[in-house]
Amino acid sequence: MVFFDEKQTAAGKRQLMKSYRKELWFNTRNRREFINITPEVEACLKESGIKEGFVLCNAMHITASVFINDDESGLHQDFETWLERLAPERPYSQYRHNNGEDNADAHLKRTIMGREVVVAVTDGKLDFGPWEQIFYGEFDGRRKKRVLVKIIGE
Ligand code: ZN
Repeated sequence: MVFFDEKQTAAGKRQLMKSYRKELWFNTRNRREFINITPEVEACLKESGIKEGFVLCNAMHITASVFINDDESGLHQDFETWLERLAPERPYSQYRHNNGEDNADAHLKRTIMGREVVVAVTDGKLDFGPWEQIFYGEFDGRRKKRVLVKIIGE
C-alpha cells in the first residue's frame, strides 16, 4: 500500500511524501535460524517507488530479531555459540519466565541481537556500508511470525 501526502515546498514546487508498509512472514523449520532478508527488503523498496528516505525493518515478535551484519556462515555459527553461552536454551527450569513456557532464552537472545534496523534510502537503493546485509534472527521458530517493513520518503 502506498499513501501520498502532498506538501508545498518553500519554492512552491510540489513534493510527494510516500509511505509504504508490508509484512514479511516466516515459519522456520528450526527453533533458531538466521535468514538474509535483504532481497525481500529491496523488493519492498522497489515496489514502494521511494528514491530518498528511510526503511525501518523490525521483528513483530519479542523472541525474534532484525539486525545488520555480514552474510558469512562462520560468523553465524559464532553468533549461535555466543548467544547459547549468554542465554542457554536448556535447562528450561533455570529461567523464571519458563513457567508454562520454554522460550526465556529466546527473549534474552532477541534483546541482545536487537529489535529493528533503519537503513537510509539513496537514489532508490539501500545505502549500505561494505558487507552490510539485513537478517531475520529467529530464536523461537517453527511457527508463523512476521517482520514489518515501513518505508517513508519521496
Ligand atoms: Zn515467552
